[in-house]
Amino acid sequence: MNAVQLQQAVKVYAESIGIDKIGFTTAAPFRELKNRLKRQQELGYQSGFEEKDLEKRTEPALLLDQAESIIAIAVAYPSKMTNSPKGKKGERRGIFCRASWGTDYHTVLREKLRLLEAFIVQYVPDAKLRSMVDTGELSDRAVAERAGIGWSAKNCSIITPEFGSYVYLGEMITNIPFSPDVPMEDECGDCRLCLDVCPTGALIQGGQLNAQRCIAFLTQSKTPIPEEFRMEFGNRLYGCDTCQTVCPKNKGKQNLHQQAFQPEPELAKPLLQPMLKLSNREFKETYGHVSGSWRGKNPIQRNAIIALAHFKEVSAVPELIDMLEQDPRPMIRGTIAWALSQIGAEEGLLAIQEAMEKEQDAHVLAELQNALDNWKEQF
Ligand code: SF4
Ligand code: SF4
Repeated sequence: MNAVQLQQAVKVYAESIGIDKIGFTTAAPFRELKNRLKRQQELGYQSGFEEKDLEKRTEPALLLDQAESIIAIAVAYPSKMTNSPKGKKGERRGIFCRASWGTDYHTVLREKLRLLEAFIVQYVPDAKLRSMVDTGELSDRAVAERAGIGWSAKNCSIITPEFGSYVYLGEMITNIPFSPDVPMEDECGDCRLCLDVCPTGALIQGGQLNAQRCIAFLTQSKTPIPEEFRMEFGNRLYGCDTCQTVCPKNKGKQNLHQQAFQPEPELAKPLLQPMLKLSNREFKETYGHVSGSWRGKNPIQRNAIIALAHFKEVSAVPELIDMLEQDPRPMIRGTIAWALSQIGAEEGLLAIQEAMEKEQDAHVLAELQNALDNWKEQF
């Protein structure tokens, strides 16, 4: 089989294993990306989750000896929950973003890439292949853009005409000279809806994100959330979809066909109060298979407290007071101090005053003082 026939066979096989879109590009360096990443670093706009080495992020040849091409894949995920939990009075729920619905996409896409590697090796036994999904050195988006999967949009997503921006991306560097696809034209045009609706102004300009202000990244932070962003979280427990859900290019794109990503309603939109005291084990058993669990339970429980403050949920106050007194985690106690000051029940004020007498941690003491100041301002 020659390279052209192999490329065709790879496309057909990819479709048969549920890869929704495939594209090919060369293994040439991503020069423009390198300049962009440098600027992001200088401005302090990075999330901190990225590979630090810019050479590795932009030069495929450093990652695979004799790299010739990169195969980009996209697998669509649902934008709509068809079996959403029925809202009941007094029940407050949080939300995991769509990229955390169903089985962790890293697992699903890695398995598809593993199958694709095995397929290629059947025909090219000495092929050199290296696959990655999200956590690899390369930028999935830069690869997908150059391989013609979609255009790099102003909301920093890759938008495909078929599935909108609701696609997971992965890639495989190869030493096979596949012929490259043509990148797509940018179709954002004059639209700037995503920039205008972003609750924290994290989209600086089309295609440039300050991750330090982006709720999607902030919800994953293991450190206390700066106060200016807390109310903007709303009931988000993990991630933020706002700049995708408003995008006109996503209109009507439901993508319900991938079984692995069907949301389990009670996990995707869980009740907030039962989350507060989940043990590590309970959290892992319940949420361990979804991508939103990768930072562990602490950020999610902190975000659940913020969500209860957003709802001003008075029925949560006794449990929050109990945790303010007992919980060993300063970030949790500090967030509760703030939450009590937002909910505004009288017993919350007493609990904050009492905690000030006993608290030893400097960060929590500062939060308690701030909560008292908030209280005086608001009530
Ligand atoms: Fe803004 Fe949310 Fe989009 Fe981040 S994910 S840029 S916070 S709308
Ligand atoms: Fe592009 Fe408009 Fe979608 Fe933003 S909302 S990504 S500007 S089409």
